[in-house]
Amino acid sequence: MADHAPNPSATPAWSLLPERVTALANRARAGGAPSVRTQAPATGAGIVDLPQSSVADLDAAFERARLAQLEWSARPLAERTAVFSRLHDLILREQSEILDILQTETGKARSHAFEEVADVAINSRYYSRTAAAALKPKSRSGALPLLTAAREVRHAKGVVVVISPWNYPLALSVSDALPALIAGNAVVSRPDNQTALTTLWAHELAEKAGLPKDVWQVVLGRGKDIGSELIARADFVDYTGSTATGRGIAEQAAARLIACSLELGGKNPMLVLDDADVSKAAEGAIRACFSSAGQLCESMERIYVADNIHDQFVEKFLARVETMRLGADLEYNSDMGSLTFPRQLASISEHVEDAKKKGATVLTGGRARPDLGPYFYEPTVLTDVTPDMLVHRDETFGPVVSIYRVADDEDAIAQANDTAYGLNASIWTKDTKRGRRVAERLRAGAVNINEGYAAAWGSVDAPSGGFGDSGLGRRHGAEGILKYTDVQTIATQRLLPIAPLPGMSDETWAKTLTVALWTMRRLRLK
Ligand code: NAD
Repeated sequence: MADHAPNPSATPAWSLLPERVTALANRARAGGAPSVRTQAPATGAGIVDLPQSSVADLDAAFERARLAQLEWSARPLAERTAVFSRLHDLILREQSEILDILQTETGKARSHAFEEVADVAINSRYYSRTAAAALKPKSRSGALPLLTAAREVRHAKGVVVVISPWNYPLALSVSDALPALIAGNAVVSRPDNQTALTTLWAHELAEKAGLPKDVWQVVLGRGKDIGSELIARADFVDYTGSTATGRGIAEQAAARLIACSLELGGKNPMLVLDDADVSKAAEGAIRACFSSAGQLCESMERIYVADNIHDQFVEKFLARVETMRLGADLEYNSDMGSLTFPRQLASISEHVEDAKKKGATVLTGGRARPDLGPYFYEPTVLTDVTPDMLVHRDETFGPVVSIYRVADDEDAIAQANDTAYGLNASIWTKDTKRGRRVAERLRAGAVNINEGYAAAWGSVDAPSGGFGDSGLGRRHGAEGILKYTDVQTIATQRLLPIAPLPGMSDETWAKTLTVALWTMRRLRLK
């Protein structure tokens, strides 16, 4: 087996000056609790002593956010969308600094960091262009034609809490906050400590784009320390992370009768049908399985390949995996970076060791690469995986994929659906109509045909989210902004009341209404 070629410059040089790091950290509403030290995963070098938020800091953040929200929501929508239209331009122009920060905090390769920059630009532009249509008051048919006018009006919820994880920290903290802000809410963001500078950089950029001070607050703290305090103060909670944590957040939100949206884990299947272009499928699987070292909720962890092309697919896929360049240098030189935490390295190693012990075959990879950095792990392909192994059903959340041989489409569909999750799926076929037929039978919020995840994820006009244990609610599309609003119906009754006319008996009123209902049915008025 060929070895993975390490890059000569695998060690990222932390390019930010200490003053710049401190200035970013100081943007957070924090400091009342002891700070925590963060570490660059690719090298182990320290990044920053990050201030943490106390309960008093949270109170201050919410108080300022609530005050600022009143003025912000009163502004014309066009002023609010203009801010994010400018954010689109600024993030594209100023991408090099945020790419460095993203890579340093996560350990990912630059091309994977760029996906996040593109995501924020795409969402900024999308919601700047479409918010007016989604949010404008809409006429609805009234109780009685001509006599009742009904209108649907949207109101911002107030203060939205966005709790985001560390794996796609720019995309998941900013792209979820921006529709909430455009809808007229204030936002209190709680990024993961590991990737807080990324969110704080975006916070600074949003103010440069014209976002008024205090409308967007950033607080810092571990989920277990400040999660409940945040939910206790929120008008809506937007959470991205694991299913286990998501359940706890849903329970707390339910107790307060506030809504939440939850974007959770996945165990995503890729189906390579018998007529697939094998070379394209193998290349697509590289992107689908190893972006951000597989620490991507949409990542493929199971590949079901039709019997007739199985061996050819495996050969091409392995050949390509073995040419991947590992590293996290601050250039576009690497195909896959480091894992982000020691706990990721531990849980991924546990999944692979468990599979090996129970009889799986490691076709390539299957080992850590401390020679490249403390948490590097090789892209790993397994086969002979059985249901008793952790990798079969549990989310690995790393660069590990299992290949299964399947008899036909029915077999592939049955195995793909054999999971409590339902986030993302991928189908490879030359017959796209057949691909769509198979797609409709998969239990997944997104299905990509001839792509791994970027087609559905990047189609931001369409909703994105999970079935089953993968979540509740949607981001993207109209749903991605309407969830941050309360809807109000204003109905105006004209000329006649919806009640008996003066002197009319209840019985006559009932008969009159019955005739009116039959007439409306005949004339198809309702
Ligand atoms: P996790 O649930 O342990 O942590 C995620 C984030 O939630 C962290 O920042 C953590 O600080 C915070 N958190 C933890 N407990 C909390 C609490 N009680 N209250 C509030 N916040 C709390 O998950 P993880 O393993 O660190 O993240 C990876 C998981 O996230 C994977 O399962 C992955 O699939 C999922 N994810 C889903 C999506 C999606 O869009 N569906 C995107 C990215 C990641």
